[in-house]
Amino acid sequence: MTNLVQRLSGIDARIAAALEGCGRTGDEITRIVVTKFHPAQLVRDLYDLGVRDFGENRDQEAAPKAEELEDLDCRWHFIGQLQSNKAKSVVRYARSIHSLDRLSLLDSLAKVTADRVTPLDVFIQMNLTQDENRGGISSADLLGFAERVSQVSSLRLRGVMAVASLDGEEERDFEQVANASELLRQQYPDANSISAGMSGDFELALTYGATHLRIGTAITGNRG
Ligand SMILES: *Cc1c(COP(=O)(O)O)cnc(C)c1O
Repeated sequence: MTNLVQRLSGIDARIAAALEGCGRTGDEITRIVVTKFHPAQLVRDLYDLGVRDFGENRDQEAAPKAEELEDLDCRWHFIGQLQSNKAKSVVRYARSIHSLDRLSLLDSLAKVTADRVTPLDVFIQMNLTQDENRGGISSADLLGFAERVSQVSSLRLRGVMAVASLDGEEERDFEQVANASELLRQQYPDANSISAGMSGDFELALTYGATHLRIGTAITGNRG
């Protein structure tokens, strides 16, 4: 627990310093702690330290965890690739989906959220590579896809999401995401969020406008 406190406060200090370095304020930032591979107890410990936003990437793991922690007021962010047949399960606990990466998933989400009162937050996950077989929406297809999302009243488009490549070219990737976000905002001013930045690159992501950081191991430590 002491280590957890130190890691969490260390990361928050680094976030604050990075924000100051680029003249931004903390109000715009959601720091999501990614708890995949870790037991529900770690979520409780983090919750006791004031964390409310948690990220998970597999429904098989997240659904039972969310159920076990129903007594807490956690905000669950689904950040992993989502199979359409899991959409129904995920929307029961997730308040936002960061990995909307294809039309078939949009259709499934539209179906399973149809009778919601409060819209579900979604981010469009971008494909930053030239490889069309990779998941995600390319910059060229972004506005067309966003239009489809905007037609679904039970979904609220929050912005774009990306995972930077780990090839030393993170700056190029974050710049591409920032440009895509700007394009998106011209059409959809409220879709102004950028989900980007993980343990190894969140400071750089912040300089490129990231609003939602998804930080795992730097806070949680390695799987216990
Ligand atoms: C696991 C994961 C993270 C967190 O990664 P760390 O390097 O542990 O911070 C962020 N985003 C996605 C999509 C992930 O799957």
